[in-house]
Amino acid sequence: MKKLLILFLIGATAFSCKNTQSAANKDNSDPSKYVKLISEKDLKTMLYVVASDEMEGRETGSAGQKKAGLYMIDQYKKSGISFPKGASDFYQHIPASYLNAKRNQNLPDSENIWAYIEGSEKPDEVLVISAHYDHVGIKDGEVYNGADDDGSGTVAVIEMAKAFAKAKKQGHGPKRSILFLHVTGEEHGLHGSRFYSENPLFPIANTIADINIDMIGRRDVEHANTNNYVYVIGADRLSSDLHNAVVAQNEKYIKMDLDFKFNDPKDPNHFYERSDHYNFAKHGIPAIFFFNGVHEDYHGKGDEPQKIEYDALTKRTKLAFVLAWDLANRENRPVVDKPIK
Ligand SMILES: [Zn+2]
Repeated sequence: MKKLLILFLIGATAFSCKNTQSAANKDNSDPSKYVKLISEKDLKTMLYVVASDEMEGRETGSAGQKKAGLYMIDQYKKSGISFPKGASDFYQHIPASYLNAKRNQNLPDSENIWAYIEGSEKPDEVLVISAHYDHVGIKDGEVYNGADDDGSGTVAVIEMAKAFAKAKKQGHGPKRSILFLHVTGEEHGLHGSRFYSENPLFPIANTIADINIDMIGRRDVEHANTNNYVYVIGADRLSSDLHNAVVAQNEKYIKMDLDFKFNDPKDPNHFYERSDHYNFAKHGIPAIFFFNGVHEDYHGKGDEPQKIEYDALTKRTKLAFVLAWDLANRENRPVVDKPIK
């Protein structure tokens, strides 16, 4: 009698927990609780490691880059985040032959690094959040640390993954799956993202968008008086929904100045074609690029972690997070309503 009663109680509790969880899962409309987890301290701690001399400027295929990669993977493991379904580890290996095919720069083999959180309702639809983790290495004995380029994006992606993992633990996991993709070979010609787009782990047709982050920790001369801005590039090129989503989420939760100056197709800098999101856009995947503009230390030895404005890095990471939250949880994936060029 007692035993039976206990069993009945356990059964009833399990049933009610499951019910609460699925009810909670249905309401992921508000990211407020989880965007708070994006922490300035965390970002700073990680960036001081990723952009330390020990990583030797993270040149594609170098020992220093691999060391940075191991640190990044360790961050995922510590947060209970695994590599994607269908992969055997955290690496997407890219042979030297691929990296040197367009122009032989004697690059050795290298790796993209990926982590993954499976969606609760539409696991087959995948949002990609990307940032390159390579930089330009050592020149004349000086380590080029690339704290902004793109240490800032690298740690932003990890920090976002940690917040999504925590949300999932509390029954608010994303409805769609999210692939956290750290690409290599960007500085040599966007190789890692091109390789992924030609060898995708998840079908291109199921890839709903790419949020790419490349340099979000500094300010440019155009914004000498404030760091409360970010350049938004590419969002409306393929999808009005993606553009509307970033505007709405910013308005609601972040209130940062979104600068669309470099989104002008006639802008002579052509930033739209100059970072990894472009390899997704080429395949018809709506893509958005967050960027702080260039500064005096761009590709210079002065791109150091102590020059990063951590309040700005944190706020821009939060913007990327609330956008990702919306894209992963919204009813319909962003529609492609513009011609693919
Ligand atoms: Zn970069």
